[in-house]
Amino acid sequence: IKGKAKKAGKAAHAIDKAAVLGAGIMGGGIAYQSASTGTPIIMKDINDKALHLGLSEASKLLNKQLERGKINGAKMAGVLNNIVPSLSYDSVKDVNIVVEAVVENPKVKASVLAEVEGVVGEDAIITSNTSTISINQLAQSLKKPERFCGMHFFNPVHRMPLVEVIRGEHTSDETVATVVAYAAKMGKSPIVVNDCPGFFVNRVLFPYFQGFSLLVRDGADFQAVDKVMEKQFGWPMGPAYLLDVVGIDTGHHAQAVMAEGFPTRMSKTDKDAIDVMFENQRFGQKNGKGFYVYT
Ligand code: NAD
Repeated sequence: IKGKAKKAGKAAHAIDKAAVLGAGIMGGGIAYQSASTGTPIIMKDINDKALHLGLSEASKLLNKQLERGKINGAKMAGVLNNIVPSLSYDSVKDVNIVVEAVVENPKVKASVLAEVEGVVGEDAIITSNTSTISINQLAQSLKKPERFCGMHFFNPVHRMPLVEVIRGEHTSDETVATVVAYAAKMGKSPIVVNDCPGFFVNRVLFPYFQGFSLLVRDGADFQAVDKVMEKQFGWPMGPAYLLDVVGIDTGHHAQAVMAEGFPTRMSKTDKDAIDVMFENQRFGQKNGKGFYVYT
């Protein structure tokens, strides 16, 4: 991160209606969070099954709150009504902001961003929840890159307070201000950062993961490391468990992006524990086995 990210000094646009593209783990979570904090949201996917799954995840979260007496039936119905599933771009025409959360593939994202820009109004803000793709690179697929920036949520969206708002070279102050305001309305704590591999969080997190992963390669017991980090160091979870939550495949990919982006600081010459886990398809909680086994 070179220098300080510029401050968002301009007025934010009003956000009455949003759209999320992709109804997967992140898209579903973003839809739930937006709807439950008062911003109706269109949840668009290309797959009907994904839409059903996204909605049923939102219902599950709301049911838990209902059982705990935190919300009543009317509030639950209101939130669910605020999430409108769709397979078509037609429903996205009049939204003020779009959060792209489709698969982490630069070509797919580029075409989805160009498609959605052709549908929304002139003033709509477009964002991407990418974890590893450069915001400046994605901006090239848009006619108006000034209306575009990163809006990086963390998993699980309803529990993780941080949102990275990633300013690209051409991102306008209004865009940053609007995205910061939307994140704050969603009850999140936005931070504004410049575009670089790993943005802010992964630049801090991945040297730690790499240190851990090499330590295990050298013979350290991963459970002992987790125990020390949790019990003695006071962190909510140790690196092995956190990698299982994030997904070892995701971690493996992000590690490669960091190594490419910072070849001298984050070079990867040695095979480490993350590589071995990945090769053995131990992807973490998502497939039931990572450093730990989940039944
Ligand atoms: P996912 O695989 O769970 O969901 C992706 C969804 O996108 C699927 O439902 C798929 O049908 C849909 N999709 C694919 N092509 C589409 C298109 N053309 N139009 C609309 N929908 C389309 O993925 P995910 O884990 O939710 O990740 C989504 C994005 O969020 C990625 O960019 C990822 O890097 C980022 N992210 C993920 C995490 C995480 O922990 N999972 C955390 C932060 C950011």
